[in-house]
Amino acid sequence: MDTRHYDVLIIGAGPGGIFAAYELTRLDASLKVAVLECGGRLDQRKCPINGTTVKSCLNCKSCSIMNGFGGAGAFSDGKYNITNEFGGTLFEYTGKKEAIELMEYVDEINCKMGGSETRLYEGGDPALYKKCLENNLHLLKASVRHLGTDVNLVVLGNLYDSLKDKVDFFFHHRVNTVMVQGEGYEAVCENGERFQADKVIISTGRSGSRWMESICKDLDLPSKSSRIDIGVRVEVPFETFSTLTDSLYESKIVYRSKKYQDRIRTFCMNPHGVVVNENTNGIITVNGHSYSDPSLFTENTNFALLVSSHFTEPFHESNAYGESIARLSNMLGGGVIVQRFGDLIRGQRSTPDRIASGFVRPTLQATPGDLSLVIPKRQLDDIIEMIYALDAVAPSTASDDTLLYGVEVKFYNMEVEVDSNLETCRKGLYVIGDCSGVTHSLSHASASGVYAARNLVRSIHEQ
Ligand SMILES: Cc1cc2nc3c(=O)[nH]c(=O)nc-3n(C[C@H](O)[C@H](O)[C@H](O)COP(=O)(O)OP(=O)(O)OC[C@H]3O[C@@H](n4cnc5c(N)ncnc54)[C@H](O)[C@@H]3O)c2cc1C
Repeated sequence: MDTRHYDVLIIGAGPGGIFAAYELTRLDASLKVAVLECGGRLDQRKCPINGTTVKSCLNCKSCSIMNGFGGAGAFSDGKYNITNEFGGTLFEYTGKKEAIELMEYVDEINCKMGGSETRLYEGGDPALYKKCLENNLHLLKASVRHLGTDVNLVVLGNLYDSLKDKVDFFFHHRVNTVMVQGEGYEAVCENGERFQADKVIISTGRSGSRWMESICKDLDLPSKSSRIDIGVRVEVPFETFSTLTDSLYESKIVYRSKKYQDRIRTFCMNPHGVVVNENTNGIITVNGHSYSDPSLFTENTNFALLVSSHFTEPFHESNAYGESIARLSNMLGGGVIVQRFGDLIRGQRSTPDRIASGFVRPTLQATPGDLSLVIPKRQLDDIIEMIYALDAVAPSTASDDTLLYGVEVKFYNMEVEVDSNLETCRKGLYVIGDCSGVTHSLSHASASGVYAARNLVRSIHEQ
């Protein structure tokens, strides 16, 4: 099979890869760029679960939810948080001001590509921040562009149309290995096809985390892995959180538990949203999203409550720890487990009847069960403590009928050692987005793509 030659190879067509391709072609139209993506085109991405003939995950070779043009973010809620407070640590490489400028630049492009009619939530009511502080809750500051799942898909479609004649996209091309080849690199795909280039940008996201570990070993790229976030997705009536969501859309609230001094946070808040399954390396966990089209609104709001665990020597397998907890819930519930808060507090499992008798109607069909059999005591105590704290700012959060889905796990990619250009110790090899460990969000991943592309083009022009 012939080897194809390019100036730049981008591995992964998630937000990181897409924005890297956008910026590369904008800065230097003469560059020959290829994007290798193991999933399909946006219009080919269709999860076979239809709720009738296929009710649970078939473990497809390439998951339509996580893989393909748009990456893990394609069917997401499309919340672009413009902030250095969460979503990644890009600012440690770029400086705080430039990180915000990069995220604003991404926002400009998203607006140009069809997102201009969507709302940018800027700051919130100072009284809310005060009320949170009075209850030991810390509300983080951010501007949020909420594209919504529907507009996010329009934006991605337009981005693809604007790139497809400038960049060669190779879908259903899973890269197996990346090898040093002379002054550059060779990527070998599962189907045997080979691609060579002087420069490579790796942006394989969270779904490519295992693969990234193997690349680090093969290419001797220093890395470390120590963090995991474990928790539940909480579902409440929309009105319960409306004071917060009306002015902020997504409120990121951090709490330090009295009992263990652990840090617990709200994450991915979806007013009028739906709770969904997420498949990470064959393990079913829970997530959530919402639409900007009012006709698709539900009567509920959902958000995650996550407890961060940082492991120190000698334990390095933080992701394996999270996976085994998620596996336990899959083992007991066949997937995601749902439990009423009142049942959890009373030490009893939820049953289909107890869920049906509650006032909060679940938006995900999960197995009624007992989360205390799955989630370690420490994390569960932390979550319960925070639910009571939230009840003070959003009354009825700690109601009997509040639904808890478990488990939600945020796997962190190991952190790959990169310099201030996001270039690894191997010259011309950049690692960006969630697979680098530097970012954990749409805006940071996209911004890292723009930043790496600018550094890469500068390095070519300086040669
Ligand atoms: C359901 C859901 C909702 C979310 N909602 C939000 C939100 O509202 N706001 C927010 O900020 N973040 C959200 N996120 C997180 C966000 O989607 C990610 O942070 C972001 O997509 C990371 O971008 P990325 O380009 O680094 O990686 P990804 O988006 O994961 O893209 C990586 C791409 O690389 C491909 N790939 C992997 N391995 C290989 C390989 N070996 N060869 C070729 N291709 C490969 C994958 O198929 C994938 O398409 C959500 C995530 C999920 C799953």
